[in-house]
Amino acid sequence: MEKDYIRAAFSKNEGEKVRLAGWVNTVASLGKLLFINLRDSSGLIQVVVKKDKINSVDFDEIKELGRESSILVEGEVRKDKRAPGGVEILAQKVTIASSSSKDFPIRKGVSSKVLGNYRHLSIRSRKFSKLLLIRSELLRLFRDWLIRNDFKEFSCPTLITAACEGGATLFELNYFGKKAYLTQSSQFYLEAGIFSLEKVFTLQPSFRAEKSKTRRHLTEFWHLEVEEAWCDLNGIINLEEDIVADVLKELDLKMGQEIRSINPNFSPPEKPFKKITYDEAIALLSREGIKVEWGSDLGADEEKALVNIVGGPVFVTHFPKKTRAFYHKPDPQRDEVVLSNDLLFPKVGEIIGGGERISDYNVLLKRIKEEGYSPKDYSWYLDLRKYGSVPHAGFGLGIERVLVYVLDLPNIKFAIPFPRTISRIYP
Ligand code: ATP
Ligand code: MG
Repeated sequence: MEKDYIRAAFSKNEGEKVRLAGWVNTVASLGKLLFINLRDSSGLIQVVVKKDKINSVDFDEIKELGRESSILVEGEVRKDKRAPGGVEILAQKVTIASSSSKDFPIRKGVSSKVLGNYRHLSIRSRKFSKLLLIRSELLRLFRDWLIRNDFKEFSCPTLITAACEGGATLFELNYFGKKAYLTQSSQFYLEAGIFSLEKVFTLQPSFRAEKSKTRRHLTEFWHLEVEEAWCDLNGIINLEEDIVADVLKELDLKMGQEIRSINPNFSPPEKPFKKITYDEAIALLSREGIKVEWGSDLGADEEKALVNIVGGPVFVTHFPKKTRAFYHKPDPQRDEVVLSNDLLFPKVGEIIGGGERISDYNVLLKRIKEEGYSPKDYSWYLDLRKYGSVPHAGFGLGIERVLVYVLDLPNIKFAIPFPRTISRIYP
């Protein structure tokens, strides 16, 4: 098939002969004239079909085309102020690639449930195309940033045997008669990877059986995870700040127009971000009348309140040990807190969780036992501390949470083409 098609949104000159390929949005008939609103991945364009310029059998067939029919158009560019985009194509030939069934289920006013049931079709909308383009660019920019900064992409398994973030949100499955799980995080495997490549990352789905309905939890989300050898808490905080601020600035440069068509108020956050300890955080909250018992984790509401108090993105560090998974390194100055950090953002709360890992074999063994896990299940993970351990730190960032922030989405399910939540696994 010849591929010399021009995109709807590309600039064109008066009189230029062009070929377009796309999907019919609407066909309006005005006697001997048809106006086709044609869509491709770049945008919309108006195609005008004149009965006397085209075979009349074709004309009648085009007139009857249903929404989403795919067509190829050959024609000439004409400037026309009334046309969306300022130009239209006067068709000389229209070829119908596939005529669409007339009952396209997505119409104005359909409920959000119907839109969700037909997500495989609703992603064709202009707004969704833009959103998915921004998502694609965001993924590319994160990868590029890491590769530019000497990180290596390291692929990790999805099928695993031991919990990383605690048993409550594990999806269990039958693995040839043995229990296995879908991974909640690739962190442990990345930790193995640093002994081979030192600075590693992965961008892949993590799975969490989140049992409550919230606007910021998916059961399958895209997790950017980074792990670095010879790195401590401060080192990893600096890395998180740099990657997030740089990537969002680059995203704004590349996709600013598309972003603002969805969220007119977006501006990329400036570094440095504020940094406070957990103790300072609960003191700040308490001043606003929000009581957090020392030792409880911060919930979405507290995170949002903190971001408002601070007036922008904020790192919270040194969480109580009991609020964090067993692998976090206890603070040598104060054993009841760990060298961890969360990065909280406006509109969504936590976008990153990270910190320094325990690198000492005996400390890790003790923490595994304290949490009631079996050291046998973590035998290979303990090996990483047995054979030439190094200080190291890392973080995990939720791609969809970043998109909720950038695009001010009302719900995280709009940040991914095919969301998985407690109430949705179809389509
Ligand atoms: P939360 O407290 O918000 O449930 P978490 O502390 O359990 O998150 P981490 O284990 O720290 O999350 O995971 C790292 C990052 O992955 C989070 O900061 C967040 O951006 C993202 N993330 C975690 N769980 C989910 C989820 N269910 N859906 C979407 N993103 C998630
Ligand atoms: Mg976290």
